[in-house]
Amino acid sequence: MTSSPVAAHSVDSGTITPGGTMRGLIKHHAGTGLKFVDDHPVPEPGPRDVRIRVNKAGICGTDRHIWEWDEWASGRVPVGIITGHEFVGVIDKIGSAVTRYQPGQRVSAEGHLTAGKDYLSQTGNAHIASDTVIFGIDRDGCFADYIVVPESNVWPVHPEIPDRVAAVFDPLGNAVHTVMAAGVSSKNVLISGVGIIGLMAVTVAKAAGAAKVFCTDINPPRLELAKKLGAHAVFDARDDGWIDDARAQTYEGVDVLLEMSGAPAAMDQGFRALRNGGTAALLGLPAKHVNFDFNSHIIFKGCTVLGINGRRIWDTWYQMERLLLSGHLELDEIITHEFPMEDYERAFETMISGEGIKVLLDLSR
Ligand SMILES: [Zn+2]
Repeated sequence: MTSSPVAAHSVDSGTITPGGTMRGLIKHHAGTGLKFVDDHPVPEPGPRDVRIRVNKAGICGTDRHIWEWDEWASGRVPVGIITGHEFVGVIDKIGSAVTRYQPGQRVSAEGHLTAGKDYLSQTGNAHIASDTVIFGIDRDGCFADYIVVPESNVWPVHPEIPDRVAAVFDPLGNAVHTVMAAGVSSKNVLISGVGIIGLMAVTVAKAAGAAKVFCTDINPPRLELAKKLGAHAVFDARDDGWIDDARAQTYEGVDVLLEMSGAPAAMDQGFRALRNGGTAALLGLPAKHVNFDFNSHIIFKGCTVLGINGRRIWDTWYQMERLLLSGHLELDEIITHEFPMEDYERAFETMISGEGIKVLLDLSR
C-alpha cells in the first residue's frame, strides 16, 4: 500500500509504511534557496542508527549560508541533500544493534559525526576529530519529517526542557562551550558580537557567575536585548571610544573576551579591551584572513587564546542541561519566531532580515 504524504508525516500515524514518503527542504540546485518536497523517501535506520520523527528544528546562520549559496556553501555542501542540523524529535524506529534507546524517547543529537576511531576521538576530543561530518551540511539533515542518526550521537532530552529550547541545543551548546572553556566565574567578561550565539552567551555567562558582562555590536536593538539579558554595559562598536570606558570599569581591562562576531575590527577592539594575562575564546568566523597585531594583542599581553569549535561531547551537553535546569538561562526573547515547515520561505526571510533572532520550524503539524 502506498501511503499519501499526509499519512506518512502524520504525528499520530505510528509506524509508517515501508517505502513511505516525507516532507523535506532540499538544496535542490547550485544557487539560492531551498526546495520544499513532500515525496522524499523516508530513510531507514542502519543497525546502529535510530530514526527520529522531527518535532522542531532551528534555522542556523549556517543554513543561511546554504540558502544564499555563498562561496563557503558552494565549496562544501553537496547539491541534493536535506539541510538543517538543530532539532528535537521522538525516536520512531531503532536499528537491530541499538541498545541504549527505544522508540518513543524524546531526543536531540550532536550534529558532528565521527567514526570515533581517530586519535582525537580516542582522547576525549571528538568535537575536533579530523573525520568529522556534519548532518545538514555534509549529509542529510533535519529539515524533514524524519532523520536517521547514529545511536552514538543521540542525546536524550530531559523531560523538564521544552521542545522549543531542545531544538536549539546546537547553538546554545556553542555558547556554553565558549563560556565554559574561557571560565567566567567572578570575572569581568566582554562579548564582542551579540547575534544569536552572542546573546545566548550573555545569559550563559551570567548564569555561570560572571561579574560584569560588557557587550559590543553594531546593532542597537540587539545591544538593548543584551542589556535586558543581564549585560552590565553595552557599546556600539562603530566608535572605539568605549574601550577606555570598559577599562576604567575593570582592573586594566576585561579578564575574558568571548569573540562571537568574526569581524576583524571587533577582534582588534576586543583584544585591546582585554587585560594583560587575560583569556580570549574565539568562536566567530572571519570571512577571510585577518590582519591582526599578534605582538601587542597576544605575545606582549601574555594572554591565553582558545579556538572554540562545536560542543565538547558530552561535557558541554551535560553543562547545558544543568544550566537549563537551574532556571537561570533566559532564552524566551532569543527564540523569537516559529513557522510551520511549509512557510519555510517566510521563516528564512524573518531570520535573514534580522526581524527574528532564533527562528524555528515546527514540523509536528
Ligand atoms: Zn547551527
